Amino acid sequence: MPIALHPSIDNGIKHGNPGFHGGTLHCHCASHKVEVRIDAQTAHNHACGCSKCWKPKGAKFSVVAVVPRDAVHVTANGNKLHIIDHNATIQRHACRECGVHMFGRIENKSHPFYGLDFVHTELSDEQGWSQPEFAAFVSSVIEQGTPPSEMAAIRNRLKELGLEPYDCLSPPLMDAIATHLAKASGALAA
Ligand SMILES: [Zn+2]
Ligand SMILES: [Zn+2]
Repeated sequence: MPIALHPSIDNGIKHGNPGFHGGTLHCHCASHKVEVRIDAQTAHNHACGCSKCWKPKGAKFSVVAVVPRDAVHVTANGNKLHIIDHNATIQRHACRECGVHMFGRIENKSHPFYGLDFVHTELSDEQGWSQPEFAAFVSSVIEQGTPPSEMAAIRNRLKELGLEPYDCLSPPLMDAIATHLAKASGALAA
């Protein structure tokens, strides 16, 4: 049995459908579910080992993607949503009852990822969302209690699944952040 990372990737990566245009996410409550409609395909989907992203019970990793914030609409039971931490860079809007994070939003307009919301497409019944492409913040699973001795098996399993493990974000995303900061500081021409 390979080491379990997240139910949506443990049996292999399901490929996304390039023609897919969105769907509806719902929380885990038995009734009066919070529903969020996403009018776009996701991008940069990845497994994340950080301690902030929502993950289902027992999962070591979160699976999280981004969509333009204009494509995110709360369509039912939005009164159950609350922001977990108003001071966090990503304000995670979660269901007060079941704890599921419905979307994460950046309100700081100068942040490199401003304009993108973070979502978990496993909350949708639709198939075709973009597939996970890499694994981020892999070493952070230790901070949540994973023994360091398991890390080799975890990184091997991620590679086997085709998810290159990184201990920050992927190189293209780290480059995008650095470019944004360099343009803001004047080190690069805007
Ligand atoms: Zn709920
Ligand atoms: Zn994360």
